[in-house]
Amino acid sequence: MELKQLYQEIILDHAKNPRNKGKCENYNHDAKAHNPLCGDKVHIYLNLDKDNIRGLSFEGEGCAISLASASILTDTLKGRDLTFTKNITNNFLNMLKSKSKITLNSLSEDQITTINSLSGVQEFPMRIKCATMAWHALLSAIEKKN
Ligand code: ZN
Repeated sequence: MELKQLYQEIILDHAKNPRNKGKCENYNHDAKAHNPLCGDKVHIYLNLDKDNIRGLSFEGEGCAISLASASILTDTLKGRDLTFTKNITNNFLNMLKSKSKITLNSLSEDQITTINSLSGVQEFPMRIKCATMAWHALLSAIEKKN
């Protein structure tokens, strides 16, 4: 299978069957973001226990890219600690800015392929916000308590 096609299938799968959708139990941090260019909305819920992300989920509506990105984010970072989470988030945001790909040895090969599936938006500057919105919301959620 061509890589581009694999990436598309991953995005469609996450958009159609989003992981961790809804409010997670006992969330104590949350943040919203929206992307007026495309009409996407996302609300990130976080159950943060000191440095550990015990729960991570989202509610949202919008295009396939925005939903897939939020789903992939929760799937990759749930159960991880904040150092790891900030590292991955920064790498993801840089990836879209610098047109690179993620290559982190702290992630499994599957996880790397899944995150890199969103790298296709690099060619469409209007869509980059669709992919980054949930990750910016996550960073705001970490900073503020509800
Ligand atoms: Zn969008």
